Amino acid sequence: MPVWAHTKLVRKKDKKLQKDIQYVDKEASFKWNKRSTIFKMLEKVLETHEMCSNTNGHCLISHLLNSMGLAHIAYHPIQGLTPGERQLVNIACALVLQPKLVILDDLLSGLDLSVQSQVLNILSHIKKKRAITYLFISDNLNASYYISDQVAVMYKGRIVEKGTVSQIYEEPIHSYTQALMSTVPSIYKRERIVLKGAPPSSSCPSNGCPFYRRCPFAQEACKSRQPLLREIRSGQFVSCHLHA
Ligand code: SF4
Repeated sequence: MPVWAHTKLVRKKDKKLQKDIQYVDKEASFKWNKRSTIFKMLEKVLETHEMCSNTNGHCLISHLLNSMGLAHIAYHPIQGLTPGERQLVNIACALVLQPKLVILDDLLSGLDLSVQSQVLNILSHIKKKRAITYLFISDNLNASYYISDQVAVMYKGRIVEKGTVSQIYEEPIHSYTQALMSTVPSIYKRERIVLKGAPPSSSCPSNGCPFYRRCPFAQEACKSRQPLLREIRSGQFVSCHLHA
């Protein structure tokens, strides 16, 4: 294959990948042209990705705004939107491209509780209608429980446990996950676990388990050997020497 044909193919693949995987965070709205309307902005997103003729594009946008409860503000300028509406428009900009995966990064922080549940309901409604996967990154345990099928718990940048939402919230195995879930008494029906100390600083990396200093079950080996993530129950993976 000549080099130019190969390059063209790679660019085509890149474009498809950019469309299929969308990233949404709460900062996205700062890049918008504040005088544009929501409808115009979504048209621009489609144009940029060379998607849809005018008629199809209009149908796609109208349908999406309807399903997200945003049709009534479709022709409002962006500058007048509330924080919750801005967040929904952020999500609409991703969804209009009909991606397969949407990474939702700390989307709910700063929104009040009623707006958070509105955003979650819309995301969940769309998930039921489309073949779409969300990667929902959040420290909001109630929201993660509501929106997720699978959960991965991270401590200092490492996954310490992963499994189905009921495995992680109702029967956590790792001591950090147990402490975390004990802060959600409506789901985890056991005693509250209060951890001592603070997470280690990233400037002092250790060879051992990153949870060593705070773990009530720490042993000597935990100081120097990092545990691997292993499947302990069907579909439930844990990184801990006690469960090796
Ligand atoms: S490896 Fe050791 S320190 Fe880490 S969670 Fe397990 S018992 Fe605790």
